[in-house]
Amino acid sequence: MFLFFYYFYSTSNKNVMNKTCLECQDKIVGREDKKFCSDGCRNAYNNKMNKDQTNLMRNINNKLRKNYRILTELNPEEKTKITKNKLMSKGFDFDLITSIYTTKTGNIYYFVYDQGYLAVENESYVLVKK
Ligand SMILES: [Zn+2]
Repeated sequence: MFLFFYYFYSTSNKNVMNKTCLECQDKIVGREDKKFCSDGCRNAYNNKMNKDQTNLMRNINNKLRKNYRILTELNPEEKTKITKNKLMSKGFDFDLITSIYTTKTGNIYYFVYDQGYLAVENESYVLVKK
C-alpha cells in the first residue's frame, strides 16, 4: 500500500513538473525550480546571455562614441550653430545621448558626455561644450 502511494505520488509529481533544460531542451529531473539539466548547460546558457548583453552594450557604446566624435569635430570652438542635415550626413544618431539638461527658461540640451546640442529654428542646432 505504501509503495503504491509512493509510486503514484512520484509519477504524478513528474508529470506536473514537465520542464525542459533552457539550454539543451532535455527533460529536467529533480527539484521543481531547476532550470538546467546540468552545470555545463547552466554555464553555457549564462555565458551566451552575458555575451548578448555585452554585444548590445558594445554596439551602443560604439554609437555613443561616434556621436561624441561627430559633435567634437563639428564644434571645435566649443559653441557653434549647424544644420540638422549636417549632423545627419555625418551619421549622427539622435536617439543616443547620455544626459538631458533643461534650463530655467525651458530650453532642452541633449548631451553626449560633455558635448551638447540644442534644437533651434530652421532645422538647426546649437552645439555647446559643458
Ligand atoms: Zn541541458
